[in-house]
Amino acid sequence: MTIDKLCKWFVFVAAPIVILALIVGCASDMVRKKTVDVATIHWIRATPEKCGGEALQGRTLHGCAKVFPSGCVLTMAEDAPDWLVAHEVKHCFGWDHR
Ligand SMILES: [Zn+2]
Repeated sequence: MTIDKLCKWFVFVAAPIVILALIVGCASDMVRKKTVDVATIHWIRATPEKCGGEALQGRTLHGCAKVFPSGCVLTMAEDAPDWLVAHEVKHCFGWDHR
């Protein structure tokens, strides 16, 4: 296999599979723990280190959400990927990890 074919294989086959697996993996480990109809969300623009070291059992921490009765505080970079924003916002609406 030439390097050109190898690069095309990676871009069109391997990379999408890896990305899809990451997205599905992140989304599937959440369950609804309570129902929240309205959430006031504050977003602190900061790196995940500001989350207070709440690493999740060997997984990389990209951001965090702290839920209070008065609202929800997200901590993540301003250029966080869409999947991460969706994940953290889901915490604000009562979803959490199993
Ligand atoms: Zn989470």
